[in-house]
Amino acid sequence: MKQDKLTTIAVRAGINSDEHHGAVVPALHLSSTYSLKGFNEKRQFDYSRTGNPTRATLAQVISDLENGSTGIITSTGMSAVHLICQLLATTDTLLIPHDCYGGSYRLFTYLAERGLFKLLVVDQNDEQQLQQALAQKPKLVLLESPSNPLLRIVDIKAICAQAKAVGALVAVDNTFLSPLLQRPLDLGADIVIHSTTKFINGHSDVVGGAVVTKDAELGEKLAWWANCIGITGAAFDSFMVLRGIKTLPIRLKQHQQNTEQLVAFLQNHPAIEKLYYPGLTDHPGHDIAKAQQQGFGSMFSFEIKGGEAQVRTLFANVKLFTLAQSLGGVESLISHPSTMTHAGMNLEAQIAAGIGQNLIRVSVGIEDISDIIDDLDNALNASLEVAY
Ligand SMILES: *Cc1c(COP(=O)(O)O)cnc(C)c1O
Repeated sequence: MKQDKLTTIAVRAGINSDEHHGAVVPALHLSSTYSLKGFNEKRQFDYSRTGNPTRATLAQVISDLENGSTGIITSTGMSAVHLICQLLATTDTLLIPHDCYGGSYRLFTYLAERGLFKLLVVDQNDEQQLQQALAQKPKLVLLESPSNPLLRIVDIKAICAQAKAVGALVAVDNTFLSPLLQRPLDLGADIVIHSTTKFINGHSDVVGGAVVTKDAELGEKLAWWANCIGITGAAFDSFMVLRGIKTLPIRLKQHQQNTEQLVAFLQNHPAIEKLYYPGLTDHPGHDIAKAQQQGFGSMFSFEIKGGEAQVRTLFANVKLFTLAQSLGGVESLISHPSTMTHAGMNLEAQIAAGIGQNLIRVSVGIEDISDIIDDLDNALNASLEVAY
């Protein structure tokens, strides 16, 4: 019987797949190499860079969750992002959003500078900029929705249709939501990218990535490159992520419930200038998010009133929130995009992307909501005590 409910797919990942011992949970296969049955008679796996049973189980579940044909597990989210660049020849153009993840922005700009492909950086919500860029017939269009750190939303379905019309492939970085809350392939995308470091693993103890394709031929091509350049994920990491993914549905429920309550509390906080969360009805992407997502997620950001003194005071006074990069783990994290996640963007690019010095990004964890609210409230109130 095909089990096609997403929660069931996540929970049942690899369960009962061991035909030798009947192990309920799939084994961790650390062997780097596999024997041949005989001369020129290969088994399913021969060498772990190319293929590994533990990694294959994880690839299958992420691909199933995204409704794709092929899943590729990579060593990091960045190597997943790098992998799609293998589709580009030196004469090809890559179109990216001006506010994409800082590490992706750094990778694309430095590779383009070396002449590996042509790069167009635009505000994909600016219809004129987007049409001008598409008119240059890019080979590949990258989308990131919601974007990091401002939670901007783009209409994935609409842009996929426009990209298809000019013959471009579309890749969507779905890290901020996970396949439980958004499935870009169903909206017309060709490729989905994940940093599994974030929600998919969810416990802040693995760095990993994934690429899923709609089309099997495209998937085969990318899997070939992943093996060729040697960026496939480790067996142990795959085992850990498989363990994490089983609780993804239930973690997301708690993450989102906590976020809704925290954002509602912060809406009228005197220390906050502006809140960025797609779940708020006055967020410019609210209606599109509602239509293309199955939830608003648990990432939000805000501008604190004041200047550097207030930012410093806030970070010095949080006790439950940890001042750290990354997101999507069970623990609440708080960060300063300009000096942390987006330091790979120069100040000019940061300003163009709307990332100010007062911008704070929050990854809401699954701790008790009253502790989360109290902690941020205390730290924000402390910032109000400082002169500016
Ligand atoms: C973290 C992140 C990446 C990079 O992933 P790593 O696992 O850190 O290499 C890419 N895209 C987005 C949106 C991210 O948040």
